[in-house]
Amino acid sequence: MKLITILVTTWLLSLTAWGHAGAPLGPNGGRMLEFSKDGSVQGELTLTNGIFRVALLDKNRKPVALDQQSLTVQGGDRNRPEKPTVTRDGNTFTFPALAGEKYPLVFQFRAKPNARAVTARMTFDASICSACKQAEWRCQCGEDDDGPDHDHDHDHAPKKK
Ligand SMILES: [Zn+2]
Repeated sequence: MKLITILVTTWLLSLTAWGHAGAPLGPNGGRMLEFSKDGSVQGELTLTNGIFRVALLDKNRKPVALDQQSLTVQGGDRNRPEKPTVTRDGNTFTFPALAGEKYPLVFQFRAKPNARAVTARMTFDASICSACKQAEWRCQCGEDDDGPDHDHDHDHAPKKK
């Protein structure tokens, strides 16, 4: 039964991570990523000059020092995913932006070397939201008052054959 719990939790977390609408931005204006099951560690993703930075925050959104934590990133074309090299710079992880304006990013965070990895997913989308004028990946618009170019990753066609 424990496995079921984990699966359901993972599923719920991944739903949260995918839904960009209304997600509050972090203290540095970045996109928040859930790096724990209990909200104790979050990542804040920012992008400057083609370099992504991931800072760690605790549940009070205070900075967490980088120590034993590790992060891997995968993204880009789903058929040929890339694994950009993640390096450390002070208390942040950094990795180069991938080619393209829109691609999925999958983060695997470990609080300690032997800890279970927590996966966070998002879609990087550099196009500008017509409503809030933010890039879509940082868009904070509500789910109901959006335009036709907001899709919520669901369709109504039956998926199972
Ligand atoms: Zn928006």
